[in-house]
Amino acid sequence: LDHLANVCAVCLENAINRARLVRSGLTDVLTGWSNRRYLQSRLGEELARAQREGAPLSCLLMDVDHFKRVNDTHGHLAGDRVLREIADRVEMEIRASDVAARYGGEEFALLLPDTRADDAQILAERIRVAVSGEPVALESGESLAVTVSIGISAVCPPRGVDDLKSLGEKLIAEADVQLYRAKSDGRNRVRWDAA
Ligand code: GH3
Ligand code: MG
Ligand code: MG
Repeated sequence: LDHLANVCAVCLENAINRARLVRSGLTDVLTGWSNRRYLQSRLGEELARAQREGAPLSCLLMDVDHFKRVNDTHGHLAGDRVLREIADRVEMEIRASDVAARYGGEEFALLLPDTRADDAQILAERIRVAVSGEPVALESGESLAVTVSIGISAVCPPRGVDDLKSLGEKLIAEADVQLYRAKSDGRNRVRWDAA
């Protein structure tokens, strides 16, 4: 029994370590959010679910405005602090069922299941205000005003469409186009395709 217990303990430890490894490969260490790889796999699942249920799926891409200046002026640690604070503020605004990921350096992505574009706009505007409404307190004692630009896309996957991968790529690409519009229209704003 003693020997069996030892074997079981080693097996359990292996399983836990493997699960930790998988998890850490899908998690961003700075914010604790999921990373882009996780978002990519959830995108396929959420599209399939939306198709099955005939429900909409919205996507928000957000990028911190002039973030390079934050690093250049206040240092990378202050930049990291700003990213964490933005992630926290966004998290306060979203549902537990929404999928939130750090998409790149200072870019975040959200998938909003069962959410139409007009509701996504309301949320995006709330997020924009939550970020810009109050300056971020830095460890130095200074406080820093930060803003984000947000692009929105939405899809209601038609039945019979098999190629959900392309549909997912289009959803992200469209949000990116809208994010680019938000930037070129002056930043600190939300854009979507009104058509
Ligand atoms: P824009 O308004 O056009 O988005 O300008 P920007 O300065 O935000 O864009 P740019 O792409 O020039 O700069 C992004 C910066 O984000 C550059 C990069 O060093 C910084 N960055 C990326 N990841 C991290 C990170 O994990 N921590 C910190 N502190 N900075 C990061
Ligand atoms: Mg960027
Ligand atoms: Mg930026």
